Amino acid sequence: MADQSFDLIVIGAGPGGYVCAIRAAQLGMTVACVEERETLGGTCLNVGCIPSKALLQASEKYGEALHALSGFGVKVEGVSLDLDAMLEHKDKVVEANVKGIEFLFKKNKIAWLKGAAKIAAPGKVEVAGAIYAAKHIVIASGSDSIDLPGIAVDEERIVSSTGALDLEAVPERMVVIGGGYIGLELGTVWQRLGAQVTVVEFLDRLVPAMDRELSTQFQRVLRKQGMTFKFKTKVTGAVAGEDGVKLTLEAADGGKSEEMETDVLLVAVGRKPRTAGLGLNAIGVQLDSRGRIATDGRWRTTVDGIYAVGDAIAGPMLAHKAEEEGVAVAEMLAGGVGHVNYETVPGIVYTWPEVATVGKTEEELKTSAVAYKVGKFPFTANGRARAMNATEGFVKILADAGTDRILGCHIIGAEAGTLIHEVIVAMEFGGSAEDLARSFHGHPTLNETVKEAALGVAGRAIHL
Ligand code: FAD
Ligand code: NAD
Repeated sequence: MADQSFDLIVIGAGPGGYVCAIRAAQLGMTVACVEERETLGGTCLNVGCIPSKALLQASEKYGEALHALSGFGVKVEGVSLDLDAMLEHKDKVVEANVKGIEFLFKKNKIAWLKGAAKIAAPGKVEVAGAIYAAKHIVIASGSDSIDLPGIAVDEERIVSSTGALDLEAVPERMVVIGGGYIGLELGTVWQRLGAQVTVVEFLDRLVPAMDRELSTQFQRVLRKQGMTFKFKTKVTGAVAGEDGVKLTLEAADGGKSEEMETDVLLVAVGRKPRTAGLGLNAIGVQLDSRGRIATDGRWRTTVDGIYAVGDAIAGPMLAHKAEEEGVAVAEMLAGGVGHVNYETVPGIVYTWPEVATVGKTEEELKTSAVAYKVGKFPFTANGRARAMNATEGFVKILADAGTDRILGCHIIGAEAGTLIHEVIVAMEFGGSAEDLARSFHGHPTLNETVKEAALGVAGRAIHL
């Protein structure tokens, strides 16, 4: 006998889970969401997207006051860092966001079941000794940081992203293992605050899945900012002591090892789906070869009535991807269709300048049968970018050579993460480069770089 019954029980209150719960409640279902963390919002709101962006924003202000404002004729003297206040800003932002989800749960009459969920049987979820029944179960259990063998994370000297959001003092030296999203964003934060940051990356470039031209430019800009890189290198061991961390490094393909010392080591080599403790094996929910919950094109697991979304399943580990899946599953369960267009999931790195990407990379198109055209426009040729002293970067649009349909867009530059969205909307509507090029773009705006790149696809950029 169940203690209580719901139309839907969602496991995990991150962006995948809480958004799914809210949409299902909007559609008239009775909904419970199980979350074992003290607060709602999952990785993203508590120790991910939100706190990292709060620190990126705050450290950018500090960097501007130190180095950039004088370029506008604004003299600022005696600039100093109050790290405690900066961390407090971050904590307040997190608190406001997680409290916001609590409010939304109350507003939508979603029951928060506190504790760790285990699926006792299809349609039955166990939380803190009680059994709850549900017509449908959605697993949105998210992901955890990947550890490296022989490197014990203590969250003080050797930290994961969570520890790197809360360092007590600015380290003199920081080594980051992994030149991906987390390494570059959190490396940027501490570098702006004064640390000498070295990124050790296994492959030959930063954010390896990104369009190569973008990644090369990104590396150049970060290097100019003082970040140093060791590519094709792996860390084979690290020991934390009183005075810092001793590392051993080796070429990725083996060879002589080298030693290095640092004050703080950040391990940021990716994340893995969180599936332990849910009882999946016992009830027949299968995982794929990479340990992710196996789902079909409709987010159905191998057991009827059990669905999965977000970081726990295949696809980019991004909050907006998890959210869209959560919405789609809720709509499907309420008798609707549910739709996620995986061709238009943007990836954005919130450094300075920002880097934003959507759709196919040029490398992917080169190895496909599709003939494509490229339009590119530099920020140096944009009036607003000049006014902002932000002339670093470019917009690159890839379009089908036959139909002109937009296939991808890659931007490095000021507000790239905002600029990319007009391209996403155009792609969602099956738009062409010509559609973008003929749409009004207010002057003077950074958005004009997108228009000019779209014009460039047909070889007719005006300001180049
Ligand atoms: P999660 O957010 O991980 O939530 C899962 C929740 O389920 C957790 O709260 C967990 O406690 C709970 N849970 C798991 N198992 C159980 C159980 N058995 N019982 C009860 N509760 C359970 N993405 C972006 O798009 N933009 C960004 O800027 C960005 N920045 C990031 C920065 C950092 C430092 C990190 C680490 C990640 C960042 N991400 C970012 C990735 C983003 O956080 C994830 O893609 C997103 O949180 C995934 O959402 P989710 O709902 O699938 O899982
Ligand atoms: P990542 O996959 O972005 O980058 C990991 C990097 O580590 C890769 O470049 C990989 O080649 C490298 N690597 C792997 N093993 C290594 C080793 N042994 N030695 C040296 N380098 C190694 O992973 P992440 O930075 O940990 O972030 C995890 C996920 O969180 C991201 O994939 C992303 O989906 C999400 N995230 C997104 C944002 C954002 O949207 N702005 C920010 C942070 C995190």
